[in-house]
Amino acid sequence: MAEVESFSLDHTKVKAPYVRLAGRKALAGGVVEKYDLRLAQPNREALPTASLHTLEHLLAGYLRDHLPGVIDLSPMGCRTGFYLVVEGPVGEEKVLEAFAQALRDVLAHEGEVPGASFKECGNYRDHDLLGAKAWAEKALKAGLRVQATVPLEAR
Ligand SMILES: [Zn+2]
Repeated sequence: MAEVESFSLDHTKVKAPYVRLAGRKALAGGVVEKYDLRLAQPNREALPTASLHTLEHLLAGYLRDHLPGVIDLSPMGCRTGFYLVVEGPVGEEKVLEAFAQALRDVLAHEGEVPGASFKECGNYRDHDLLGAKAWAEKALKAGLRVQATVPLEAR
């Protein structure tokens, strides 16, 4: 699986609250794109924190295996999905394909959750591999689609 920066941080040696430079990427004059990868229907359901957290750990590596130029993948605070920041232009179809592949990798994942030890993770007890797999399976069964941006209506 691809290298993940945060898994190489010794979480027992930092002192919060703080600001830390977590990555720097040189861009050859290109564009950076941000994608909304949604697993749960907003305001109807939400992923339990342990499932979301384990998915974050697994997708951090598996998504990078299928998509070059990933800058960051972070869970949404509302726990309905993830934000993906990637060196573009990539396009929704390619992101969708990589996301589906990564979700299939999650389903097939055996053994330890990567980066989930006391030293490597900021909340190592809060993991649920079975829950992560269940949400991956649910999304794959429902079928991922490209969602256009629907703007709020003017009031
Ligand atoms: Zn973690």
